[in-house]
Amino acid sequence: MRKLQQILLPWLLISVFLIILFQLYQGQNEEYTDQREDVGAATELHPTVEEKKNKLIEQAVTKDIHVVITDDVRSFERQEELYQQGRATDGEIVTYAQGGESYHNYGLAIDYALENKNGELIWDIHYDGNNNNQSDWFEVANIAKNLGFEWGGDWEGFKDYPHLQITFGLSIEQLQRGIRPKPAQE
Ligand SMILES: [Zn+2]
Repeated sequence: MRKLQQILLPWLLISVFLIILFQLYQGQNEEYTDQREDVGAATELHPTVEEKKNKLIEQAVTKDIHVVITDDVRSFERQEELYQQGRATDGEIVTYAQGGESYHNYGLAIDYALENKNGELIWDIHYDGNNNNQSDWFEVANIAKNLGFEWGGDWEGFKDYPHLQITFGLSIEQLQRGIRPKPAQE
């Protein structure tokens, strides 16, 4: 009988230990509701952002404005390169976000520019190609905001005029921890 106890006791302790571990693991999963296995950069735009991007382009055309999407998903490496621009490398500062700190890294942001009738890219935010006495750039920003985008031109401090993002209420810190919006959210 004593021998049996000696065998069973360690197994009992191991079982209890495993149950506690399992419960801790479950608890963590509840917190990270939509955690993906890959907590790194996205490789494509979130489906909702993709859909709204296309609507933006379509709705701008009805106002005789040609929108060009100049950037969408970015790898952490590409973000880091951009961050170094105007700091370690030549050029103007274009971002304050390092690798992993931009909504572009999670497929939740796009950048736009305009194209004129000759197919040339326009970065002038005062350009009025459709001659309605309104800046085309701001007209596009308004369409985007009506579609649910947040516009970088509205930011306090550093204004990122080409930038549009949909955050789904998630902070960069949450995204870095692996929390993601539901894929089919609408
Ligand atoms: Zn941007």
